[in-house]
Amino acid sequence: MSLLPSVLLDGYRSFVEGRYLQETQRYRTLAREGQAPDTMVIACCDSRAAPETIFGAGAGELFVVRNVANLVPPYRPDGDFHGTSAALEFAVQALKVKHIVVMGHGRCGGIKAALSPDAEPLSPGDFIGKWMSILEPVAAAVSSNELLTSGERQTALERISIRTSIGNLRSFPYIAEREAAGDLTLHGAWFDISTAELWAMDNESGDFQRPLVDLDPEPKDSLAAGDPMHGVKDEPADGSEDALSEGAN
Ligand SMILES: [Zn+2]
Repeated sequence: MSLLPSVLLDGYRSFVEGRYLQETQRYRTLAREGQAPDTMVIACCDSRAAPETIFGAGAGELFVVRNVANLVPPYRPDGDFHGTSAALEFAVQALKVKHIVVMGHGRCGGIKAALSPDAEPLSPGDFIGKWMSILEPVAAAVSSNELLTSGERQTALERISIRTSIGNLRSFPYIAEREAAGDLTLHGAWFDISTAELWAMDNESGDFQRPLVDLDPEPKDSLAAGDPMHGVKDEPADGSEDALSEGAN
């Protein structure tokens, strides 16, 4: 039996023969000098909403934490286990990221569960209900609004939860300090899986709007051609002894 699922090994082979081969020098520079990403993204675990894919990011460009429904818990140094807060601490205190993006997405299963806490649980387990209770007051307000359809409630809570998480980010003292000093900017974003529409939150009003992006009228395989992010510059791979592809078969 294979040590890893074959689909992963196939993907690994194509990574080593493709991206790694093209960007060998970049990977080596990152290994030697360490990472220095400017941007942290807090995204959902959902397999359809991977930030590196959506933003066309290469190695070293995004510091990403993913959790169920891309939530930020309030600052609570109580000795408990806090994975997202630990990632925030590292990103802000050690890496000194300049931007934190909370990115939600359409059709989020976690948000759906938060809207119908009495329905069948998302999974038989001990943790999701407690985790989603971060949204309890706002979820209750949205789910009791009978003027909205269920689809409208879903999208509304997906976006309101982003504002809630941004509020919770500001409960971390060092985040509030760095934001006040102008060293850190907080952003909200929402991605529609089926259309690839990206919406961004206006920091003044909290409203979501589509940022201006110059897209091809007929998007090809990837919306993010080239390298739009600001990270380590690619240096041409020397292509000689770097051909790990030989060993990946
Ligand atoms: Zn989700």
